[in-house]
Amino acid sequence: MISVICCTMREEFIDNVFENYLKQRLPEKELIIILNQSAMDLKRWEEKAKPYPDISVHQLPESTTLGECLNYGIHLCKHHIIAKLDDDDYYGPNYLENQLRMMKRMNADVVCKRTVYMFFENKKKIGLHLANKEKNTFVKRAGGVKGSTLVIKKYVWEDINFRHVNIGEDFEFIKRCLWNGYNIYVTDENDYVCLRRWKGNHTWKINNLALIQQSKMLGEANTIMAFIEEKNKMEGKVIRPVYNLGLESRRIALTFDDGPDPVYTPKILDLLQKYDAKATFFVVGEQLERHPELARRMVDEGHEIGNHSFYHPYLTQLTSSEIYKELMDTELLIRRITGKRTRIFRLPYLANNPKVMQIVNELGYKTIMCSIDTYDYKSIEYRDIVDTVMTSAKKGEIVLLHDCGGDQAETVKAVALILKKLRNRGYRCVTVSRLLDIYKKQ
Ligand code: ZN
Repeated sequence: MISVICCTMREEFIDNVFENYLKQRLPEKELIIILNQSAMDLKRWEEKAKPYPDISVHQLPESTTLGECLNYGIHLCKHHIIAKLDDDDYYGPNYLENQLRMMKRMNADVVCKRTVYMFFENKKKIGLHLANKEKNTFVKRAGGVKGSTLVIKKYVWEDINFRHVNIGEDFEFIKRCLWNGYNIYVTDENDYVCLRRWKGNHTWKINNLALIQQSKMLGEANTIMAFIEEKNKMEGKVIRPVYNLGLESRRIALTFDDGPDPVYTPKILDLLQKYDAKATFFVVGEQLERHPELARRMVDEGHEIGNHSFYHPYLTQLTSSEIYKELMDTELLIRRITGKRTRIFRLPYLANNPKVMQIVNELGYKTIMCSIDTYDYKSIEYRDIVDTVMTSAKKGEIVLLHDCGGDQAETVKAVALILKKLRNRGYRCVTVSRLLDIYKKQ
């Protein structure tokens, strides 16, 4: 669907290049990285790209202009929409999806941004550049349009190409698009932050002081990520891990982790059906890939699916790139199979640290912990599982069970009893999201 190109001359942004791409919420994409310097360590980049079949790395000597690098990269593209990402800027998880949506809706040849957040690194300040300019509109002039946010249809490039220059290649490109009658649409300031360093190879001639003068200054931040976290918090997008909800009504959420499993999941689904109970399944991508039909059955019968990573690793031991991949691969697989995007996530082993939580929050997930852990993965007797649940069951409880992982025969037996007992006590089993919605309204 979309080919992403990133040209870089700077080793130090390797993680940023990968992370900006890996977090993108798009099913079909590829990344073409062009190292525009012979001295850069191609092996290191190739090594990092190894786990990702959709990422390729190429190297061109520094005598090649930036414009030529872009043309070379676009030449390699599989898809007919091209996005150009800068190596040092921040792109949010919905960046490409939103740009593409607007491109489609407005039938635009080119989509980009004019009003953008800027992080002035040495001053630790955030500004909104060209805050007063109109957003979500077609533009007639190239002035102020940010080349680092270009998303173009390939036929436009085939007609125009990038000029063989090192500076202002995208400004030229935008100007020639307009001269040639292509329409350019600018979206709003969300999903992107431009990094302004004091020294370095900036392609804009205009200096940072002028940019500050043209910006509405918003306040201070130590890093771009700190700003993003603060912004998400203000917009109510960051939700602290949810343990239980202390509700008044007699509702309870049963959650099943690590499946789907071909033996035990159908049995649990049968029981839920028998008692007209709804549950939440935190699926593991690896299992889901093998048993997609079970996920479809879950959704058909009114249950909810949550993200529980792809290979169930300790996320705390992974790099940021790997964490993004674990979450996004699973999310996209769930979406492909069920047609739905899930907003809830459960941490493998419930293990977390600030880095993990930052990424989970950035991707817009609600992290669901549990208030009753049955320890059923330790293959304990079904009576003990039932006791654990029934002695501590209160309103709004979130119960952690497993439909996969070991011998879950005891879990299945326990679930049959738990459902019966809960019904007799007047409880209703609902999905986690159902509990959360009710929580929000209160
Ligand atoms: Zn698990």
